[in-house]
Amino acid sequence: MIQFQGVTKIYPNGVNALNDINFQISKGEFVLIMGESGAGKSTLNKLITKEERPTSGEVYVNGFNLSNLKGKKISLFRRSIGMVFQEFRLLSKMTVYENVAFAQEAIGVPIERIEDNVYLALKKVGLRDKASYFPKELSGGEQQRVAIARAIVNNPAIIVADEPTGNLDTKTAWEIMSVFEEINRHGTTVIMTTHNKEFVKQTKKRVLLIDNGSILRDYKRKVLTS
Ligand code: ADP
Repeated sequence: MIQFQGVTKIYPNGVNALNDINFQISKGEFVLIMGESGAGKSTLNKLITKEERPTSGEVYVNGFNLSNLKGKKISLFRRSIGMVFQEFRLLSKMTVYENVAFAQEAIGVPIERIEDNVYLALKKVGLRDKASYFPKELSGGEQQRVAIARAIVNNPAIIVADEPTGNLDTKTAWEIMSVFEEINRHGTTVIMTTHNKEFVKQTKKRVLLIDNGSILRDYKRKVLTS
């Protein structure tokens, strides 16, 4: 479902952000991307979402070879990915409902279907009763839930989350992790960048550890049995 083949990214200023990266992520996996600041994690995410293009190598996502994507196919491809960011990126002048509905309007979903879809997405993140609130009336964790609802409302095959718990306290971070886990249980692939080592220890998910533009380790902690 996601495949990187010999992917190198050199930015126009000469920074070599990723170096001959190779990996594969299957449908339905939940993968944590870890590594120090500047290691290349965001660049990797941006290559998956086609916000950046590789300098060399190929990226395949959801059956698309991203190098060959043009025109209408780019918007089709973008629909298959939901994005979540550390700083939520909600529109402050719009209500919770409008923030989520906006994602549906952007891809031309018929108006009569939008309401059901938005309420379903809000229900999945536990915020159905706060549809008429504005982002500033919500806690950080609730705002991130809205952002997750917005990311899932178009039923993407993949969610790419860039440090989604980076601005949240420990308890709230775990609540947000649970929301992602629930979405993943229903078949959506989740790629999450994080600095939270507890996620690795306690959830034993696959980790891609990036260091200085390379994959240092690709591993899963073993479940300890006594
Ligand atoms: P991380 O997400 O792990 O912090 P990034 O992928 O953001 O790492 O950055 C990897 C390297 O690429 C860093 O040296 C960073 O300064 C550089 N970089 C990131 N984005 C750009 C850009 N748009 N232009 C030039 N250099 C960039």
